[in-house]
Amino acid sequence: MHLMSERNLLMIPGPIEFEPSVLRALGEKTRSHVDPVFIKAFSRTLQGLRTVFAAPTAQPFVLAGSGTLAMEMAVANLVQQGDQALVVNTGYFSDRIGTMLERHGAAVTHLRADPGAVPLLEEVDRTLSTGGFKVMTVTHVDTSTAVLAPVKALAAVARKHGVLVVVDGVCSAGGEALEMDAWGIDVAFTASQKALGAPPGLAVLLAGPRAMAAWKARSRPVASMYLDFAEWLPIHEAYEAEKPSYFATPPVNGIMALDVSVGQLVAEGMVARVARHVALASSMRSAWKALGLTPLPKSDSVTAHTLSALYYPGAVDAALVKAVAGEGVVIAGGLHPALKSKYFRVGHMGAVSRSDLVVTVNAVERGLLACGHGVELGSGVAALG
Ligand SMILES: *Cc1c(COP(=O)(O)O)cnc(C)c1O
Repeated sequence: MHLMSERNLLMIPGPIEFEPSVLRALGEKTRSHVDPVFIKAFSRTLQGLRTVFAAPTAQPFVLAGSGTLAMEMAVANLVQQGDQALVVNTGYFSDRIGTMLERHGAAVTHLRADPGAVPLLEEVDRTLSTGGFKVMTVTHVDTSTAVLAPVKALAAVARKHGVLVVVDGVCSAGGEALEMDAWGIDVAFTASQKALGAPPGLAVLLAGPRAMAAWKARSRPVASMYLDFAEWLPIHEAYEAEKPSYFATPPVNGIMALDVSVGQLVAEGMVARVARHVALASSMRSAWKALGLTPLPKSDSVTAHTLSALYYPGAVDAALVKAVAGEGVVIAGGLHPALKSKYFRVGHMGAVSRSDLVVTVNAVERGLLACGHGVELGSGVAALG
């Protein structure tokens, strides 16, 4: 038995390792939600989120909740009984938004690909041509499979048909290239604990002008009061203008922490930040290849840069996850229902560093050996480059 330590390395696809400065902000004395220091921090955070999403024309919202709440905010405000929705389905989280759309009264069409692949653009185009669709949803990075969807190209197809584009950016925003305005995305959302680099607890959503217009044009009010743009719009406008406001108590400490992490993203610059994720992901791909591990995504072009999903090799099974934890690194098992027991996942987003990758790959090598799978110790680490 290894000693239980707080000093393990958290390398799952969220929550992740956070910068100590972000955690210090979380642990500070809680201020009033109308304290000028908090109001300034909230205002800065909202403006920073426009930079992170490359969305100068969008309205940002930050609510207490997780990514699933942000997903439901998108659905609750855009969809009403009888609307038609297309789900570009790449896995577990696409299924989730599909279910949610149905709960909110939409007629849902799923375009599915095999696990590890993305539905073809032509297929999306053909389906949208049949007419009648109000929204199309895309999971930018499906965290269950590490599949990266071609959001830019998909959004262009939807735009051509005048269909609203909703992007689940929970495992991508802050780590993958995502240009909301330039790509014609109407709503994008995420949660604090993934590539944004702040502890769990915040739902983040940005709504562009077409989405706000579609919400205004509803024939029926949003049934959920907590999720209604109508309740939150004046609050977020007031905070951004550095004026106190109240609808429901904001998660003060969480927003103070998000302010620090979003500030770090903005300071790094989105181009540099995405390039850093791409470089780290490319190192990881080389290391996995050197260890003979097969990625779940079917090609490099559909492989995310924020996490890796890899099949267990040979006779290895989920015991690997435990063995790696024994080496002080926490990784995750599978999540896609069809393949759950066949693969594992390693997150590499946010504040992740090269030395984290060295430690992680080394722990996976040792874990594989402990599971009786022959690898040459150090060969994966050497391949990180
Ligand atoms: C994690 C995740 C979610 C759900 O977020 P929670 O914060 O766990 O509710 C949704 N979509 C994607 C792509 C995710 O990675």
